[in-house]
Amino acid sequence: MSSNGNKIELPANIVIRDLALKIGKSPIDLIKKLMSNGVMATINQTVDFDTAAIVVGEYGLEAVLEAVEEEKKEETGEVPHWRQMIAGENSASLKPRPPVVTILGHVDHGKTSLLDAIRQTEVAAGEAGGITQHIGAYQVEKKGRLITFLDTPGHAAFTQMRARGAQGADIVVLVVAADDGVMPQTREAIAHAKAARVPMLVALNKVDKANANPDRVKQQLAELELVPDDWGGTTMVVPVSAKQKQGIDDLLEGILLVADSSEIKANPNGKVIGTVIEAELDKSKGVMATLLVQNGTLNAGDIVVAGTAYGKLRAITDYKGKPLKKAGPSTPVAVMGLSGMPSAGDLFQVVSSEKEARSIVAERTEAAKTLSQSKKKVSLEDLFANVQSGEAKELNLIVKADVQGSLDPIVSELNKLGGGEIGLHILHAETGNIGNNDVMLAAASKAIIVGFNVQADVDGRRLAEKEGVDIRLYEIIYRMTEDIEKALKGMLEPKLEEKVIGRAQVLDVFAASKFGRVAGCKVTEGELKRGARVRLYRGADMVFEGDLSSLRHEKEDVKEIRQGYECGVGFKSFNDIQIGDQLVCYVVE
Ligand code: GDP
Repeated sequence: MSSNGNKIELPANIVIRDLALKIGKSPIDLIKKLMSNGVMATINQTVDFDTAAIVVGEYGLEAVLEAVEEEKKEETGEVPHWRQMIAGENSASLKPRPPVVTILGHVDHGKTSLLDAIRQTEVAAGEAGGITQHIGAYQVEKKGRLITFLDTPGHAAFTQMRARGAQGADIVVLVVAADDGVMPQTREAIAHAKAARVPMLVALNKVDKANANPDRVKQQLAELELVPDDWGGTTMVVPVSAKQKQGIDDLLEGILLVADSSEIKANPNGKVIGTVIEAELDKSKGVMATLLVQNGTLNAGDIVVAGTAYGKLRAITDYKGKPLKKAGPSTPVAVMGLSGMPSAGDLFQVVSSEKEARSIVAERTEAAKTLSQSKKKVSLEDLFANVQSGEAKELNLIVKADVQGSLDPIVSELNKLGGGEIGLHILHAETGNIGNNDVMLAAASKAIIVGFNVQADVDGRRLAEKEGVDIRLYEIIYRMTEDIEKALKGMLEPKLEEKVIGRAQVLDVFAASKFGRVAGCKVTEGELKRGARVRLYRGADMVFEGDLSSLRHEKEDVKEIRQGYECGVGFKSFNDIQIGDQLVCYVVE
């Protein structure tokens, strides 16, 4: 081995692609060098230090083992779910298992079509005519290896699982339509996958279309730090057409390559645990649930606890409806015999007796009660305390703003605040109001949502309350950055809390000179106060939020008015009041 004293630090294991990047050589060239040394490896395969040292030696570089950075990575990152799943398993007993894949992407970019196309290639290749039932997941075989697909596409399913502490998928396939490019939900999907630290590859769909523009999409992906591999990056981008069933094989191969570089393992003989994919009540069969086995081997007749449901499994079938005696890691199965309905994302485990099952369920029901009473909130105020107690290591943020013109400077200002003792990680930044999806992502990632000149819609607000997600709205950028900065330094003052002081119903609407239109209301609860804040709801929709500018009782201006009384209410700059609207009055303390 020649050495001219050029040293290069290498980790204990490195992916060929990364190694090539590190030494600035073409991966192909590297693979050739490996081959000439008798090592067959693909671009996504990992080689150990000794092998890497030989190859870099051929380029006149001397490899030295990098100081162990691994642990540091673990500390700041979310622990990959499979590690949690197999915690306690002896590493010698771990065996590779099929990767579990989920498909995310913007609406209409072809998620469902792609799932169907993949499923059909399998049916064509295997038991033609075999009836496959929809159980929420299926498996296909490629090069003698299985791949498990979760076939409820969409971010909600993915995030819901994460919010429950489970994580179904090992790999995300991001579908981007070549004629449409990166869209809001594409960005959202990337944020979800990144937050979950699940590796991603891109299916560039609809390449059959005349107006497909793959290069434009690649450019957009590169801008989002997903630099395509043929541009020297690390993101695999596979052109496909779900409609014409083109590129499906390449996509499956790509998935296997990604799987190879992410060490997907389980102990087939270990403790049986997994995740509930979906559950429904069948009139004749009772509760039908789809379970994804993630460790151990599930047997027909096993007693299972899933969330707060339990039971002896009467029958296990695969996605084709074929009865199974047992199901190993990464196998999705439909089961019958549970006493109640588990929820998608619930973890399940096998226990030794019904008695044990009942006591676990009783414990869980009790714990759920106390938890809902003292739901732990990830709030900005608590951040520092959480860091001190070792519960948090970084501040995860979701940023929403009214327009791109304000979003960009906010993100760049916020990014400047990281780098101190507490890291700052922006999971997702987007324009638009705060909705359910943002709250789901925040709940699953223990993030805080900050909004600039936006509102939280009713559903989002409700979910945030339920999940204990902190939403903070600002109208001045520096107040936002100031709050975050203070929180990072543990100097944030106690938060102002919203307190609802009264509710009223709109019984009539009439014209008034000063305010345009005035709502004739009856106070149904508490009191209304002039100068307090109000929200006006029409059904479930919030139609206005602002100050209660005018309050009258029988033509007299009043400061407040109590339950049972009627009054006239006016809002500055809002006129669209309708009979039946509900008014909620609150103060910020
Ligand atoms: P989803 O909302 O992401 O699940 O998208 P769908 O799978 O429902 O597809 C949306 C539309 O795009 C449908 O009309 C599909 O027929 C069409 N589509 C999906 N894949 C392709 C493709 O590869 N080529 C073309 N031309 N159309 C496609």
